[in-house]
This record gives sequence, structure tokens and C-alpha cells, in this order.
Amino acid sequence: LNEFELIARYFADTRVRRDDVVMGIGDDAAIVQPPPGTQLVISTDTLVEGIHFPRDTPPADVGHKALAVNLSDLAAMGADPAWFTLNLTLPQPDAAWLHAFAAGLFALARRFHIQLVGGDTTRGPLSISITVHGFVPTGTALRRRGAQPGDGIYVSGALGDAALGLRLIQGQLTLPDEYHAPVLERLNRPVPRVEAGRALRGLASSCIDVSDGLLADLGHILEASDVGATLDLKRIPVSPAYDCVFADLGWEPALTGGDDYELCFTLPPAHEREFKSHAPSQPGGFSLIGEIEAAPGLRVQDESGQVRVIDARGYDHFRTP
Ligand SMILES: [Mg+2]
Repeated sequence: LNEFELIARYFADTRVRRDDVVMGIGDDAAIVQPPPGTQLVISTDTLVEGIHFPRDTPPADVGHKALAVNLSDLAAMGADPAWFTLNLTLPQPDAAWLHAFAAGLFALARRFHIQLVGGDTTRGPLSISITVHGFVPTGTALRRRGAQPGDGIYVSGALGDAALGLRLIQGQLTLPDEYHAPVLERLNRPVPRVEAGRALRGLASSCIDVSDGLLADLGHILEASDVGATLDLKRIPVSPAYDCVFADLGWEPALTGGDDYELCFTLPPAHEREFKSHAPSQPGGFSLIGEIEAAPGLRVQDESGQVRVIDARGYDHFRTP
């Protein structure tokens, strides 16, 4: 065995054993058995060092995040995670790095009962490419398309902490010591909102995960649904850490910072009560932040009640409160 084959063998022990994996790692391809009456939901994402995560990010965090961002896309579709493949490109095999990377990766895999069924390892600049497979009962996947005028716009958890974590690493942010760990956790170890996505099946009229920033990702829902919206700025959920720097940064990190991996979704008023009675518990809960409207475009009502139209350049307006 060459050094990369040895690595591949190391990844074979995932400690997740699913009954629907007929043949996992060990043949030319995997064989899996989706349950009858379901549709496959598939997503893929690549993380490149220095672009999608800073150099010197702890390897356990890299392993966690590489899978988490993919699971977040399954969550946004309301899918149950099932299987994934891993393509790993490494400058050189480094046993200590790989051990920690695998520990972070498989801890999250166990939490969401998703099994590694194949992959490849090659030499090159560090990058991690993961493809996740999940399933939904036929016809129940959440989409970006489907939001209707009158639907409430919701977001899970709190927004902006990952952007604060990145600024902290880059030395661009002063934050009380007790908040360093929480914002770095939000940046490096996002928790995909899989349970929330599952609870939204049959109830939400649209859904997306917040990977590029709330305004950009909600914009995708509005475009796909051919509707507009007004957000109520004072309802945007932020953390205690964020409160500490709000006077300096205003709403900009919460509205345009990426990497939060919360869910943004729309609920018809008739489904609100049922969602609240089935909603999973999660930090920050779920916040109603605005309403879908027939008039196209995205508007934001600020604390003084003034409504501003947001365009691509309008994001800069939020740099000061
Ligand atoms: Mg997404």
C-alpha cells in the first residue's frame, strides 16, 4: 500500500453503520438502498484552505466544518442525512493532522448518523470536497421557490457571530475575552439545523441555509419565488457577543456576514402554530423577522420606522447603526 492508500484505510473506520448501506468502502463503488417512497437529495461543497477557512484552522474544526456546511444544505431541503463521500487533497500525508481531522469529521457524522461510503485522496494544496446524500418522503423537499405574499420570514438561531469570529482571527475586532470562544465556535463548528429542516417539511413554503449572508440568501428565495419582502431590523436575532460590538459594527455582520449556517424560511400564517408546536429546541430558537410581499425587491425597516430599499450596493448602508 502506498501512503495515500494507508490514509484511505484509516478513513474506513467511521463507526457509523447504516442498514441501508449495502456496500460501503471496499469495492469499486458504493451500493445504497434508499427507503421506498423517498427521493434522493444530493449536495456537494468544497473547502479550500486560505479561501474557505483560514490557514492554521485546527484540523478537527476543518473536519467538522467540511461536513457541517454540506449537512446544512441537506437541512435547507428538509432532508434526512444518509451517506457521504470525501475527496481529500493534501500537500503531504500528516498523521497528526489526519487523526484530528477525522475525529472532527466523524464526531459530526455520528451525531447525524451519516455514513462515509467512498472517496479519494490525492496530493496537492489542502482542500476537502464532500458530497452528501439524504432523502425526503417523495414530494416533500423544501425549496427556495414557493414563498407567497403574507408568509412570515423566519430565521433560526442568531446571525453574525461567524463574521465576528473571522474578524477576531484577522485581528480586526476587539471583543471581551469571554466571547472569543463562542464566536470562534460559530465560525469553525457550525451546527447544521437538520432537525429544524425536518420539522419544516410540509409546513414551510420556502427555505434556504444562510451561507452567504441573510440579505443574499433571502434574495435567492425572493428571486426563485418571484416575490418581494420587508425585513424588520429590530427583530434580527443577534447574540450577547454581538451586542458588545453592535455600537461599532451595526447590523452589517448580521445581514451580510456569511458562514452562519442558520436556516431562513417562510411560513404561511396558517402553519405557524403547527410549526411552533413541533419546532426542535435550539439555541436562539426561531425569530419572525419580516414578511413576504407581492411587490418585488427587498426592503428593510430600521429602528426609526424608515423603510429602505436594499440593492447590491445597499449592503454598505449597514456598516453603521
Ligand atoms: Mg445552501
